[in-house]
Amino acid sequence: MRDFSADHRWLSLNTATVRRQGDLLEIIEACARHGIRAIDPWRDQVAAIGLERAARTLRDAGLELSGYCRGGMFTSDAAHRIEARDDNRRAVDEAKALGAPCVVLVVGGLPQYSRPGSVASKDIPAARAQVEEAIAEMMEYARDARMPLAIEPLHPAYAADRACVNTTRQALDICDRLDGGRTGALGVALDVYHIWWDVELLGQISRAGKGRLLAFHVCDWLVPTKDILNDRGMMGDGVIDIRSVRRAVEAEGFEGYCEIEIFSEAWWRKPIDEVLRTCIDRHRTVV
Ligand code: ZN
Repeated sequence: MRDFSADHRWLSLNTATVRRQGDLLEIIEACARHGIRAIDPWRDQVAAIGLERAARTLRDAGLELSGYCRGGMFTSDAAHRIEARDDNRRAVDEAKALGAPCVVLVVGGLPQYSRPGSVASKDIPAARAQVEEAIAEMMEYARDARMPLAIEPLHPAYAADRACVNTTRQALDICDRLDGGRTGALGVALDVYHIWWDVELLGQISRAGKGRLLAFHVCDWLVPTKDILNDRGMMGDGVIDIRSVRRAVEAEGFEGYCEIEIFSEAWWRKPIDEVLRTCIDRHRTVV
């Protein structure tokens, strides 16, 4: 396993971690101040400053991307399917323009929450079938752009409103069905927050292998968690044995960035330099 104790060259910042503290330009400047080499920006942050300006600023700052957040939200009623498809195609185009290594997919839950305005449905098997069909369709477009897609399984607590793909096994089953030849077009983004509890985790990580491990996200699970969406912990403040998960992905050959992704009302209230200093310290000591 790589030794992170001496530097933070493999730290990437998911820009949602500091989204309240500034726009993408300010976040990029802060990363430069702290010697952070990579980020994973969100589409709304890119849109707010403009795609071309974002691409140019990233290039000038010499920043790499560890992913692009996010595509997905595939589940909808029939009237919203084209909207979902076109939106995801734009995500691929933007990722390409920014030089991202993959588009992270949060696949959507029940239609009325994923595509507001959709007719309500409680049919989660149908939602899951729709997700698979939509990923297959998106892959055709993404393949032409040579943009890999990374399915992020989300904790089951999000099954209704964010993602009905909830385990690493489920995500890898989709990968096997849609890309059985392991062409590199489809893989997973593993976020310790969503998967740490899974009894099958280590076995599924070896099943994924290097070719399917496209992104690795870290934060921590606080006890008690006060808000399932916006109360994630800083690494080391919760109960996840982050290093054991990193050991498992690196045993498969993963050698990419460890991306820090913390949605937290508490951390959003702190100055950006304090957040980044803490991220770097925890990256070196507990990731
Ligand atoms: Zn994540």
